[in-house]
Amino acid sequence: MALFRDKEVRKLLAEFNGSLEEGSKVDSDKVCAALAKAGGGLPAGAKEMSFEDIAGAGVPTAIARAISKVWRGGDSNEKPTAKPGTAEVNIGGVEGTFEALAFAMGNVGAFGDKPLLRVYEPLGRDDVTGELNKRSGGKPFIVFADKQTLAVDVDRSYGNLQLLKQGVEIGVNTVVDSKLTELFKAGELPDLALAICPVHGCHLIGQDQFCQKCNYAWAEVSTEVRELAWCHIQFVLAEEPGPQDARLKQIHAALGDEKDQYWSQATLELEKLKATGQPIVLVKPVKRPGRSAPPSRR
Ligand SMILES: [Zn+2]
Repeated sequence: MALFRDKEVRKLLAEFNGSLEEGSKVDSDKVCAALAKAGGGLPAGAKEMSFEDIAGAGVPTAIARAISKVWRGGDSNEKPTAKPGTAEVNIGGVEGTFEALAFAMGNVGAFGDKPLLRVYEPLGRDDVTGELNKRSGGKPFIVFADKQTLAVDVDRSYGNLQLLKQGVEIGVNTVVDSKLTELFKAGELPDLALAICPVHGCHLIGQDQFCQKCNYAWAEVSTEVRELAWCHIQFVLAEEPGPQDARLKQIHAALGDEKDQYWSQATLELEKLKATGQPIVLVKPVKRPGRSAPPSRR
């Protein structure tokens, strides 16, 4: 019955015996047989065995540790099981995934297309943007999952990039969930108009459409009531109520019902505007800070 790394274990036992006086030597065959019986004949079993298990085969703890080291030691024939890009590496004391290191060291050219898209931020690093422009030939291919937060749809963008690399013309639009959606070049930002607070005129933030001045989420409020609130501010109050103003609370209290008496004057004003074809625009474009054109490298 052969042990895992039988030769090395037997050599170790022979050396150990060589250091001992006649009469106190261990019986190598007996030890090896006991180790094999405990699971040492299989690589997986041998690697799992504790020092105590090994010592139980009839060797002192120090030798048990040495055998364990032989079994658990590096094996150049073993293939690494980690996926490329996820393996932990250690260079100069810096630990992390290969991607994180390559990113930290500015070596974005070493990235695959998908990892590169995963680290891409439209307002982020120029080298990532430049590398994506290089790979896409400066053509639009990026799909945003959320234009407001600039979250990139990595899978769709990746698919488009693969088409471009094969020479397929993909145009400037794509269909996402049966809606036509614009494609963007790396470094390009989508035009965006966001809903505004009818009271304060500032952008409403997030899915809740939260106004920080109101301290109120507008998402559930109908367009009609928003228009009434806007008319109320413009024509009835003719000023913007401050955060502690009781009128702000009255407005919020009436938002659930367009028939509320509170809106009677605003309703007249709204009808006048509609009769004269004057639209109320309760969205406003987002002014994004300018950014220099993406650098073209090489
Ligand atoms: Zn507001």
